Amino acid sequence: MPNLRTVPADASGNLERVLDHPHSDIILRSCDFHEFRVPSLYILDNSPVLTKSIQNSSNPFGPDIVVSTDASPSLPVVPLSESGDIVSSLLSFIIPTTPHLPPTTEKAMELLSAAQKYEMTLVLNRIRDHIAQQDPPLVREETAFDVYSLANRHGLRQEARQAARLTLKLPMSLEDLESKFDILSGSVLHQLWIYHRSVRDFLEEDLSTFRIVGVEPRINFRCVKLTSSDVPAWLDDYIDSVARNPAFFDLSEFHMALARHVTSCDDPDRRLRSCQTCASISRKTIDTFWTTFTNIFQQCIEEAYVSVVIVNIPIRYEITL
Ligand SMILES: [Zn+2]
Repeated sequence: MPNLRTVPADASGNLERVLDHPHSDIILRSCDFHEFRVPSLYILDNSPVLTKSIQNSSNPFGPDIVVSTDASPSLPVVPLSESGDIVSSLLSFIIPTTPHLPPTTEKAMELLSAAQKYEMTLVLNRIRDHIAQQDPPLVREETAFDVYSLANRHGLRQEARQAARLTLKLPMSLEDLESKFDILSGSVLHQLWIYHRSVRDFLEEDLSTFRIVGVEPRINFRCVKLTSSDVPAWLDDYIDSVARNPAFFDLSEFHMALARHVTSCDDPDRRLRSCQTCASISRKTIDTFWTTFTNIFQQCIEEAYVSVVIVNIPIRYEITL
């Protein structure tokens, strides 16, 4: 198994070999002059874009190929616009070796962008699978704004969608975003703000209908306090809270709302409003409600994303959604 290693840029500008596969017949050279000697077969199998460059090797003076000038046997050289650490990581998902991600979130987005640019569909999926296994996750609430901005810049729709959804759990007030001004452009912030507003609009409309005509919210006709639509008032309030703030869409929040209802009704001073019937709602009934509620919630945020955000993300080398 060949050993891939990432090396710092050589201050002297000399080429440094970071991969020397025993069956190499082509050299990939990074923009910071690191050389990766690899069998071209791996590249041909994975990238139609680089395949065209390699095929030009039949013409050593073709536009994409230069001849290595160091002392070792000459091989066709394909210059790449990515840095050595990105090429190293990209190759680790192509040739049989231990795959590794670049060290930062920004670099990981560059890696995805490179795989997308070279139309490496399977490699892109492998990288995404590898990223999905990271602990802590690469895309999480703490990194959501950064990832959205980077994904937007690189035209990575899947990551942009994932990050945008995570921002729904975060406040979007000017005070909260003040620390983000150095990483988020005004247009990206505006885009996210419109997205959040659109999600709330979709939720308000669809959940209003859900509460009036849906069967699932009527989980307990014997609740001591029902709305005019026969929905338990505490559940009606919870659904309304989600419509106003999607961050409340959480099964724990649902159960806390139910617990507050049951507990407050147990208050001896409020005995007349006791509602033990809500305490005995079956698990199956709750599961049915939550499944339907989740479907409506997911549909709303997807519709909002498609209608507001996705058309504004530049499509660069996009091959998958
Ligand atoms: Zn009740």
